[in-house]
Amino acid sequence: MPKSVMALAVLLCLCVVAFLTEARLNPALAQASDDPQAGILVQIIPGHYMYNSNVFNSVIGGVIVTSEGVVVVDALSSEAMANHERQLIADMIRQPVRFLISSPDHNNFTRGNVAYQDVIRIGHENYRTDLLARIEDLPVAEQEARLPHQTYRDRMTLHLGGKEIQILHFGPAHTRGDSIVFVPEDRIVYMSELFFYDQFPVVNTGYVSWINAIDIALNLEADIFVPSHGRMDDPQNSRAALMRFRQLLADTRDAVQRAIAQGATEDQVAATVLLPQYKDLSGYQQQREVVVRRTYRDLKGILP
Ligand SMILES: [Zn+2]
Repeated sequence: MPKSVMALAVLLCLCVVAFLTEARLNPALAQASDDPQAGILVQIIPGHYMYNSNVFNSVIGGVIVTSEGVVVVDALSSEAMANHERQLIADMIRQPVRFLISSPDHNNFTRGNVAYQDVIRIGHENYRTDLLARIEDLPVAEQEARLPHQTYRDRMTLHLGGKEIQILHFGPAHTRGDSIVFVPEDRIVYMSELFFYDQFPVVNTGYVSWINAIDIALNLEADIFVPSHGRMDDPQNSRAALMRFRQLLADTRDAVQRAIAQGATEDQVAATVLLPQYKDLSGYQQQREVVVRRTYRDLKGILP
């Protein structure tokens, strides 16, 4: 074989090896998706992953692995995105998905439900009611494809592959039907949209009692609290980040309460409760007034 051909063959081999190595290290390369906002599957600790989508303010789903299959927390924003996540699970984890647990009924967390026709879908009973109201104009078959098979009121527990997976509802928080998923053995809690990691929250459907729900979660014997928005760089710092987020909600409540005590109207509260200590957080510009108005109405007892 001439030297130049040999060199070319060696080069080609090296390229193939380099490509395969990169595909293994970066799972996002292994599967393309039709959804430009599709993301990557990242291990948090052994047996626990988050799917970090490429949505602007990030939308994160959870993946719990057992020896008898996988539990997914929140199906996220589109069927294509959910299919992409399932493909990554199939490629990297090589276990079937058995259950989908959905927390908020919001579209950016439930449009992907249709990609889970072969698994048992679970949510709080208020989640089902509010999701049904949201999609009641869709054909019945499409509603059925998105709604949960199974609901619960206070809590339910899955036992899968020797692992206990608690599904907990701590009262109205981000919605009326949130679910928190706790795996005691691994000291990890999936907070879903109850936790915006160093971001200003979206509270269009939220309640002041969100603070109580976080307090109950912080009392769980857990070290890691997985958010559904933001960037969790080091899981071991997540309890501190959740406490910061709780403080943001408490500061908002207290500032609005003080303004109400001085006789402020909703418009006056919206104009004066500026929460300047949080002005640098992502989402502050868009959400500050929404949060303040919603908090005012909740504290005044005039939410619909
Ligand atoms: Zn939401």
